[in-house]
Amino acid sequence: MATEWSGKGCTLTLILFLWSRVCGNKAESLGSDSRILGMRLERSDKPATTTEDGIIQVTEESDIQLRFYGLQISNDTWAQIKFMEQGEDSSSDSNRTCGDFTKDISVRTSMSVNSQGTSGVLGVKIKPLRKSESQRDYGLCIRQNGRWFSLGEHDGRLRVVEEKKSLLPIWFQVILICCLLVLSGMFSGLNLGLMALDPMELRIVQSCGTDKEKKYARKIEPIRRKGNYLLCSLLLGNVLVNTTLTILLDDLIGSGLGAVVASTIGIVIFGEIVPQALCSRHGLAVGANTIHLTKFFMFLTFPLSYPISKLLDCVLGQEIGTVYNREKLVGMLKVTEPYNDLVKEEMNMIQGALELRTKTVEDVMTPLNNCFMINSDAVLDFNTMSEIMESGYTRIPVYEDERTNIVDILFVKDLAFVDPDDCTTLKTITKFYNHPVHFVFHDTKLDSMLEEFKKGKSHLAIVQKVNNEGEGDPFYEVLGLVTLEDVIEEIIKSEILDESDLYTDNRNRKRVAHNKNKRDFSAFKHESESKVKISPQLLLAAHRFLATEVSLFSPSQISEKILLRILKHPDVIQEIKFNENDKKASLHYLYLRGKPVDYFILILQVLTH
Ligand code: ATP
Ligand code: MG
Repeated sequence: MATEWSGKGCTLTLILFLWSRVCGNKAESLGSDSRILGMRLERSDKPATTTEDGIIQVTEESDIQLRFYGLQISNDTWAQIKFMEQGEDSSSDSNRTCGDFTKDISVRTSMSVNSQGTSGVLGVKIKPLRKSESQRDYGLCIRQNGRWFSLGEHDGRLRVVEEKKSLLPIWFQVILICCLLVLSGMFSGLNLGLMALDPMELRIVQSCGTDKEKKYARKIEPIRRKGNYLLCSLLLGNVLVNTTLTILLDDLIGSGLGAVVASTIGIVIFGEIVPQALCSRHGLAVGANTIHLTKFFMFLTFPLSYPISKLLDCVLGQEIGTVYNREKLVGMLKVTEPYNDLVKEEMNMIQGALELRTKTVEDVMTPLNNCFMINSDAVLDFNTMSEIMESGYTRIPVYEDERTNIVDILFVKDLAFVDPDDCTTLKTITKFYNHPVHFVFHDTKLDSMLEEFKKGKSHLAIVQKVNNEGEGDPFYEVLGLVTLEDVIEEIIKSEILDESDLYTDNRNRKRVAHNKNKRDFSAFKHESESKVKISPQLLLAAHRFLATEVSLFSPSQISEKILLRILKHPDVIQEIKFNENDKKASLHYLYLRGKPVDYFILILQVLTH
């Protein structure tokens, strides 16, 4: 604008120079008082400009300053300046005499003039336009030598235009803009917050969230179920609000570029970033608390958003929500491990339970080599029995001829009534109890294995597979055994140790670090040096009695091994045979009156014939 002004200034100065040279005589003929040759706009308190064809365009009801150019301009020159109304089609006759002066434009009664008197600034007040008028042109009239002249088309034309009124009062616009910003924020926040909560998640929250979450989810679910309708309403509302906001800002700021910049910054910060950041975390609470507003906008945008949503429903189908399969569930648990409130054991159990289907019995069984089994021909004497007891297992497979040919199962409790001295054969017992042998194939999945065990048949199953390698007919090959404990260990993902377990891990035969319950029953076997034959059970009973009941023989006084040695000493256990014919024999007396002894007697057995 400044360039334009200065350019205009140059042109005017040039005109002034030429005019004074070419028309010098004519000017002189007008008299010696000041001459006005042209004007330009100096300043205005309202929007004003100079058009391309040199017309000064100002706004109604404004105060402007005009700079006049000429010769011998003085402080009083203001009196030689007036304006008259002019039609658009007025001719450019500079000598036209001025008719009625207008009262719409009044000049001030003082003028600041430069030292040479070639230009001066005059304050001019523009009155409002008449009603129904949008603009009016005025021409400059100057008085020279007592006569008024109109100063041509180009150098003295002023156009007054209507003041652009804003749509609404400023205060109202500001409030409206703030409200629209809040609404814009709400729409985009809810769009993210509500649409991110899929229907499935809402149902989950309803069943297992906190009380507050349940309440919120119950409120939101009905509208979230109409996903596309909600989406269309929210987006429509958001676009509506954002465009209105830009228009209002344009009106308020008065410049299109300013409105674009202001609305972009405002919408991005307050309409998008802040609400979306907030709603991505607290979408449930925000959604539930603004539910009525959302419903209102859904109702408002119904005519447009409902048909669109129906169309989307038809094209895209029903929205189910995120459904996790087994792998995703395990993955989700692993990823969210640092943030969820599950303890390590719970995590393992859930993981183990979910992975149950992916493992087979072959993965968890105890291989045949590590199985403790007995031959069906075995005799249940003390040796076999103590071997069984030492193994610590409750269920023992019984094989015939070779270890792969399992024919029966012996439960340790079956031995309750068996006396080792009777040397009962194993077959007698197994035939009597006749426990069914439970066979499973090696590729049985752990979940179906668990189901089998739950049915109560047996908690031990023999794992076999069909071997069709090599020549000859396919046959069943026994691979090992699996028990309920193996499956449970897989679920809880850790080893279970029971009272009699010798190994923590039966597959790799890792021994229990320290097993207090391990007993060495072999010590109770018959030994040749002992003169008196007593059964190992009786010896064991005597040993346990002395160790536990007689404080002198308690393990703190004497080690169990030494006590056993003492008991096995030939002189310690003695047999007294009662002789009917010699009743008074000294052998029959355990103690004699008045005769001190350095021993005590523990009666183990009284045999009566
Ligand atoms: P229970 O605990 O019911 O008294 P148990 O201790 O004998 O029986 P489980 O606890 O079911 O047996 O199994 C513990 C581990 O010992 C498992 O890994 C299982 O495979 C293994 N196991 C069970 N019986 C035998 C056996 N006869 N020989 C070798 N390993 C066995
Ligand atoms: Mg056990």
